[in-house]
Amino acid sequence: MVPLSEKQVVREYFNTTGFERWRRIYGQEQVNLVQQDIRQGHERTIQRVLDWLADLSPTQTVCDAGCGVGSLSLPLAQRGIPVFASDLSEAMVAEAQRRQQQLLGSLENPRFAVQDLEGIEGSYDVVVCLDVLIHYPEADALGMLSHLAGLARERLIFSFAPQTPLLNLLKKVGQLFPGASKTTRAYQHREQVLVQHLRQLGWQVTRRETIASRFYFAWTLETRPIGN
Ligand code: SAH
Repeated sequence: MVPLSEKQVVREYFNTTGFERWRRIYGQEQVNLVQQDIRQGHERTIQRVLDWLADLSPTQTVCDAGCGVGSLSLPLAQRGIPVFASDLSEAMVAEAQRRQQQLLGSLENPRFAVQDLEGIEGSYDVVVCLDVLIHYPEADALGMLSHLAGLARERLIFSFAPQTPLLNLLKKVGQLFPGASKTTRAYQHREQVLVQHLRQLGWQVTRRETIASRFYFAWTLETRPIGN
C-alpha cells in the first residue's frame, strides 16, 4: 500500500475527527478544560494579528491561508477588508461559510475556497497563515513559507509551535498537544531556521508575539520584505 502523504493525512483529519474537535474549540459551545485553554490561547493569537492589521484600509487585500472556520477572516471582512481565504478541508470551509452567512448575511467577502495553500495563486498585500505549520515537518514548512512569501507584497504573518528545550521536555512526558497527537503529529519548529530561511528570501521579522498557556503554544511573526 502506498503510504499517505502528510498532507493527505492532515486533509482526512480536518474533514473528520479533527473537524469536529476544532469546530468546537474555535466556537462558543461548552468544551473541556484542555480545549478551553487551547481556545483562549488561539483567541489571543487571532486578537494580536487583528491588532497588527488595524491599519489596513479597504483598498488592501488579505489572503488567509489555512483559514479554518474563518476566525481571522470573518472579523477582517467585518471591517471591510477584502479577504481571500482557503483551506484544504471542505468541512472547515463549509463551516466558515455557514458562519459567514450567519454573521454577514452574504457569501461575498471573504471569498472562501477549498484549496491547499501550495495551490494559492496571485498577489495580496498581506498573507496570513496561522496555526498551520504545526502539521508539517520542517522541509514542508519551509516550502510553504517560500510559497506564501511569493504571494505577499507587504507582509507575511504566520505562527508556529516553537521548538524549545522546555517544550521538548513536556512533549516527552506527554503533557503537550493532547488531541493532535491522537491523530496527526504535531511538529515544532526552530524559530531561527524559519527566520533564516525567510531572510534568504529577502524578508525580515518586524513584530513578534509569543503566546503560551498550558496546552497552547504559538509564536507569531510578522515579516516584511527587507528595505520596506
Ligand atoms: N488558521 C485558522 C485555522 C487553524 S487550524 C485559525 O487560526 O483559526 C489548521 C487549519 O489548517 C485546518 O483548517 C486545516 O485544514 C488547514 N490546513 C492544514 N494543512 C493545510 C494546507 N496544506 N493547505 C491549506 N490548509 C491547510
